[in-house]
Amino acid sequence: MGIETVSDYDDGFELLKTLDSRIGEYVYQRKINYDPDHCQYFHRRPNKNQEGYCHRCADVCPTFGVGKDDSLMELIFSKIDCIGCGNCVNVCPSGSLQRDGYDKEAIVEIAKLYKNKTPVVMDFDTFETLEEFDFYSCIPLLLPQVNLLNEMYLMTLIQESGSEIIIFTKNPSENLLESIKLVNNIYDCIHNIKPIHITEEIKALSDLCDTLKPNKNLSYTYAQNQREALRDIFAQRLMFLIKNNDYGIVKNTQTSHYGEIIINQNTCTLCMSCVGACNVKSLSSNASNFSLQFNPSSCTTCGYCVDSCPENAISLDLYGISLSPSWFENKTMAQDKMFECIECSKPFATTKSIEKIKSIMLPIFKDDTAKIRSLECCPDCKVKVMFEKNIEAFI
Ligand code: SF4
Ligand code: SF4
Repeated sequence: MGIETVSDYDDGFELLKTLDSRIGEYVYQRKINYDPDHCQYFHRRPNKNQEGYCHRCADVCPTFGVGKDDSLMELIFSKIDCIGCGNCVNVCPSGSLQRDGYDKEAIVEIAKLYKNKTPVVMDFDTFETLEEFDFYSCIPLLLPQVNLLNEMYLMTLIQESGSEIIIFTKNPSENLLESIKLVNNIYDCIHNIKPIHITEEIKALSDLCDTLKPNKNLSYTYAQNQREALRDIFAQRLMFLIKNNDYGIVKNTQTSHYGEIIINQNTCTLCMSCVGACNVKSLSSNASNFSLQFNPSSCTTCGYCVDSCPENAISLDLYGISLSPSWFENKTMAQDKMFECIECSKPFATTKSIEKIKSIMLPIFKDDTAKIRSLECCPDCKVKVMFEKNIEAFI
């Protein structure tokens, strides 16, 4: 081939064809996997600021690896731009983003290999710099990036290994530091220990390796289900810690978003719009007692239900995590009696929803007795009542 010049080619087309044949094909590795099922952004209506209810991944991405299209409400991923920093995995409250090859199933399996050993968690690159270090009492646990670890992953590493853990890194992200703070605060409340140690110093690493020992009080194996949402797994691991005790509240750190919704029972009509809005099943309806149920431990505090409520009956309280058994249970947020059709006695709606409709429609229907009566009729009888009225008018 040797050195060629542009003049060696008859035209630009010939030149491009030759270049193309010599370049070959390169495939960019996908570093992040995305499952939109529980995503708090995907195909949801925008909020009053015309943006998604969650876009934390796009906000923390230092490149154009993940962005968002607010006209379609879809995330856009660029394999070329993604540097695999793990920031988006850490901040995703729903677990919709996971590191390829290091998803939640893989991390739990890796953690199990460290049973009764103290893991020193570090990036592959950091490990390369520790050739001389003697890991006689602690074992390195290598990840592509430690910054992907959120509170669920951190708790998995502690419980599956049954040991305090060491994170050895020179570049912890703010989100990793806040996740560590949250988990340490939880354990501090319950066991009076802070089981996650982070350092960038070799001497401190060596001292920690000499000191830390497996602790059977920390050990817990949880068989997580592949379809389980991130907060549900975190809740299962927390429940093991709390058992039947009440340890009070652990406040949110600067970057965590735990809390619960508050529902005004007086204004809630049990229309169940919020149940349809919640894609992590924190809200549900109980048909046997006509109630609205809420489980705080799975709520990502996205706020979508707040704006979906036509009665403005819902608000959010971002206080943190309540370390008591009731935080993991469904609680009744509002309840009502079924309203029976005044024609056929069939129950067809909640009493509050009928009262609400009547308060709006009575001034409009004025003296029209048939229309007023139809407000308390089931759909079938409503047609009958209005039909009878029209027949009467005709004859
Ligand atoms: S952080 Fe997670 S839930 Fe939020 S928009 Fe990104 S993928 Fe969706
Ligand atoms: S209950 Fe409301 S705030 Fe909580 S996850 Fe569901 S929609 Fe979001």
